[in-house]
Amino acid sequence: MSAHREAELAEGLAQVRQRVADACRAGGRRDDEVTVTVVTKFFPASDVRILAGLGVTDVGENRHQEALEKSAECADLDVRWHYIGGLQSNKAAAVASYADMVESVDRAKLLTGLARGAALRGRPLDVLLQVSLDPPEQADGRSGVHPDDLAALAQKVVDADELVLRGLMAVAPLGADPSAAFERLAGIAERFRRDHPDAGVVSAGMSGDLEAAISYGATHVRVGRAVLGERPAIK
Ligand SMILES: *Cc1c(COP(=O)(O)O)cnc(C)c1O
Repeated sequence: MSAHREAELAEGLAQVRQRVADACRAGGRRDDEVTVTVVTKFFPASDVRILAGLGVTDVGENRHQEALEKSAECADLDVRWHYIGGLQSNKAAAVASYADMVESVDRAKLLTGLARGAALRGRPLDVLLQVSLDPPEQADGRSGVHPDDLAALAQKVVDADELVLRGLMAVAPLGADPSAAFERLAGIAERFRRDHPDAGVVSAGMSGDLEAAISYGATHVRVGRAVLGERPAIK
């Protein structure tokens, strides 16, 4: 393990934890109300190992093959794997074989596979519904269920024995003010919790906008670059 890399990650993590603590204080929240999920996509399993040693409990991945391999290499670590990427229905069962929480559920077609994978693994799978905050003209090709369709999708998750509805996930729209989007998300989440009081997770905010997300009630922020540095160029 490279001592240099460890120092780099420790520094990035300390900065992010400080930002989270400051944002919580500014919003009158306790900083243990917010979990930092460190997004390790594009970075090696050795980084996950270092992060676990630094006290990181939650890591996020967005590509199935990479996540599958990395989680296997890190099977001895006590970290929770969040799947936050686009999901094909034919991969859903496989994702459920290693993910502890799938955050990017945005259509009913994924549920059968996720439930099957969870059943094979022999334990319930935590699910977040990814809600689209994009204006209609930008929503094309972007992930996320339209807020109007959220209730119906949530009911289908509740009806699946192997799936546990935990809350919502969202990504701020490209090129728009994230605060406005997260404010809207807070309203959506509040209505959602009236029907699903136990599904209080709100996963929102990334390296560039975590303060705004926390000020509008995020319980989980997903932070990559601010901890690990810039990702390699391939996308
Ligand atoms: C990559 C990714 C992140 C982390 O983004 P950073 O800007 O590196 O913090 C968060 N959420 C999702 C859905 C992602 O794909």
